[in-house]
Amino acid sequence: MTAVQSCKGCGKLFSFLPRGLCADCIDVREERFQTVREWLRDNRGASVIAACQATGVEERLVAEFIREGRLEFSGPTESARDQQAREALRAKLAGEMTAAQANGTTPTSAPRRGMNVRR
Ligand SMILES: [Zn+2]
Repeated sequence: MTAVQSCKGCGKLFSFLPRGLCADCIDVREERFQTVREWLRDNRGASVIAACQATGVEERLVAEFIREGRLEFSGPTESARDQQAREALRAKLAGEMTAAQANGTTPTSAPRRGMNVRR
């Protein structure tokens, strides 16, 4: 079978994608994995949400690393405190947006959830 596959990361078409990702996307993914792993080394027992907030890596991707057994989180995936942290972050981002609009400048941290990728 020679069906063309699209990369799960960037959507480009390839004839052979054993991992579902092209080489470029695998590189990016590995880079993010290293980022989270390094952070986790200094923050043992941290939650997934805390790791995502600190590193900027998507929860979805971190969840994949966990499924693959490459990362381990000892805490619950999301505690009440994480939810509060998430709300605080959201409020902070919203605040920066408002402040940036008032100043007429571009916000440095744009919200990362423009697209809904959750299933
Ligand atoms: Zn790709």
